[in-house]
Amino acid sequence: MRMILLGPPGAGKGTMAVKIKEELKIPHISTGDLFRAAIKNETTLGKKVKGILDQGDLVPDELTVALVKERLGSSDCSDGFILDGFPRTIGQANSLTEFAPVDLVINFTISEKEVVRRLSGRRTCKNCGAGYHVLFIPPAKENVCDKCGGELYTREDDKESSIHNRLAVYEKSTEPLISYYGDKGLLKDVDAGQSPAEVLSSVKELL
Ligand code: AMP
Repeated sequence: MRMILLGPPGAGKGTMAVKIKEELKIPHISTGDLFRAAIKNETTLGKKVKGILDQGDLVPDELTVALVKERLGSSDCSDGFILDGFPRTIGQANSLTEFAPVDLVINFTISEKEVVRRLSGRRTCKNCGAGYHVLFIPPAKENVCDKCGGELYTREDDKESSIHNRLAVYEKSTEPLISYYGDKGLLKDVDAGQSPAEVLSSVKELL
């Protein structure tokens, strides 16, 4: 199964991708994670995109498409894949249709208010990368990772000003993909405002 998880930042695409990966045994490919790894490793790509990610803007299509095309060419993608955070523009979607057409697009729907509540509470461990949330998955000790004792931080693009920019970028560039894939008969909506267990069960009904 080749699928795309579509929806605004904070809709829970990453969390669901991990569950779907366990269920279907196909790789989870998050372009955001690929870019963050490049930044952490200070690669040429990482240096190019750091400022763009911090602002919550989009990396140019050319760079993003090349990265995904290379990743999808790996042997572990031969039985399918879960794309999380890609495509984000009509241009990216057109390229994907050419080199790896998908079977299913799950569209996670959620209110803007809930997105802001979710994103602004996200915390990540500086040391091991484990994810927390001040309301939903709080660490035992404030700002300290339960797993490794590392310090927790707020991603630059989860700060309030970047969140609003990311949402505006989503509305302008990514939302048109809803009709793009709807017109192709590939789109299924899931209410991402439900509890994680409910979202998962709605997703499983589609697989
Ligand atoms: P995410 O973790 O999916 O929210 O992505 C974090 C950031 O990475 C985004 O705000 C963009 O700056 C960049 N990014 C991720 N995926 C894409 C994409 N498909 N096209 C352009 N930029 C992307």
